[in-house]
Amino acid sequence: MANVLEVVKAGHPVLKQIAQPIEFVNKNWKTLLDDMAATMYANDGCGLAAPQVGKSVRIIVLDDGTGLLELINPVIVEMDGEQVGPEGCLSVPGFFGDVKRADKITVEALNRNNKKVKLKTEGFKARIIQHEIDHLDGILFIEKADSLKQG
Ligand code: ZN
Repeated sequence: MANVLEVVKAGHPVLKQIAQPIEFVNKNWKTLLDDMAATMYANDGCGLAAPQVGKSVRIIVLDDGTGLLELINPVIVEMDGEQVGPEGCLSVPGFFGDVKRADKITVEALNRNNKKVKLKTEGFKARIIQHEIDHLDGILFIEKADSLKQG
């Protein structure tokens, strides 16, 4: 059974750290992947990065409505175009703002079976991935957002 973990909030130092890559996705990291997905769904989120549950490692999970995606050590290798749209964050509850992102991205990562995967995506899913990778580099969307609103 997966556990719902506590989501750390803005101001916690782990959110400002550069997260470390995973060398090998072992049982412990697979448990973290399961717990992160459970935590994301329990909070009605569409994405979650490991630093948000207090682990400074390069793991993200997301679901844009088309199914769970798990990415370990994700790196954006290509980006194209531009989109501006609203974002929020489980670590910054109650705040929303428009953020400029690339419209199309190509991401390389490992999956939970330690296989290299390459993913081309655009629109909302590309936005989520960029938001979550920012977490791995200690960046919160509120540092990039125009017209931050509370509500
Ligand atoms: Zn976030």
